[in-house]
Order: sequence, then C-alpha cells, then structure tokens
Amino acid sequence: MMTQALRFGPISIPLSQAFFVSKLSYGLVNLKPIRPGHVLVVSRRPVARFGELTPDEVADMFAHGQRVGRVIEKLHGADALTMCIQDGAAAGQTVPHVHLHIVPRRPGDFDDNDDVYRGLEAAGRQPRIDNPERTPRTPEDMAAEATIMRTELGGWHEPAE
Ligand code: AMP
Repeated sequence: MMTQALRFGPISIPLSQAFFVSKLSYGLVNLKPIRPGHVLVVSRRPVARFGELTPDEVADMFAHGQRVGRVIEKLHGADALTMCIQDGAAAGQTVPHVHLHIVPRRPGDFDDNDDVYRGLEAAGRQPRIDNPERTPRTPEDMAAEATIMRTELGGWHEPAE
C-alpha cells in the first residue's frame, strides 16, 4: 500500500510535497529554499546523523542525489550544484533527520561564493512570524514544484515494501 505521509524529523510531510519515494530515501521540495530549485533528499529511516545510515542507505541517497541534481540543473538553467549535509547541530543542522541539500548554482549567484553556506544555515531557522525575511511557501506552490520534479524524473516510484 502507498505511504500516506513521510517523516522529516518531527514533521509529517504530505506526499504531494515529495517528488520520489524509494525504499530508502525520498525527494522533498523545500519550505524555505535559499534559491529556487533548492531541494532535499531525505533518508526514509528517521535517524539524525549521516554516520547512522547503512551503506545501502548512503548509496540510495547519493544515487538519487545524482539524478535529482541533473534535473534541477536543467530546470533552473544552472551549470553547477552545491550538495551538502549539515551533519549535527553544531554543523548547522536544524532538522534532526539526515538529508542531502541540493542547490542549483550559477556563476555570480551569490556575492561571495561561500554565502551559500550562510544561506543554508539561515534557511533552517524559523524566523518570527513578523520578521519581514520570513518567506513561507504555500502547500500549493510546493506541490506544483513536486509535480514538475516528478515528471522530470520520469514518474513517481512506490516504496518497495
Ligand atoms: P538543516 O538546517 O540542514 O537541518 O536543513 C533543514 C532544511 O529543511 C532547510 O532547508 C529548511 O528550509 C527545510 N525545511 C524545514 N521544514 C520543512 C518542511 N516542513 N518542508 C520542507 N522543507 C523543510
């Protein structure tokens, strides 16, 4: 039977916001992307640290990361990617559930190239509701992006269980 919702740390993710689901990982559009096209590949098993993944989970996460990276480069006219894991709170992780960030990149897209990492750190933080920097996306907007990603990846695949 098809999974009804996916976990991302304490958060329940509607399937409409995921763009692939494998037995070991899933693709998630971002609530607060630092650039259009910034997406996540999340382990299905809810563990916090990269070191807790099995070799099969690591392989699945990165094999999907490769495919997803190709798709977001094409969709967003990029010619490079920042792919990273903030592995633990001291490294900037805000959701204690292993996930690979994939951000499409272009020359000069950040004033200082390493600002991408400052952006990633800030992206996970939930600013106060009255903070003008708060840019929440609607569920509809996230679902629309997931639909495009799903199509580009060649369709949804069901968890093999
Ligand atoms: P990190 O700070 O490395 O743990 O990254 C957390 C990421 O999850 C950030 O890019 C956030 O924008 C993103 N995020 C947080 N909550 C959600 C959510 N409900 N749906 C999708 N992405 C989320």
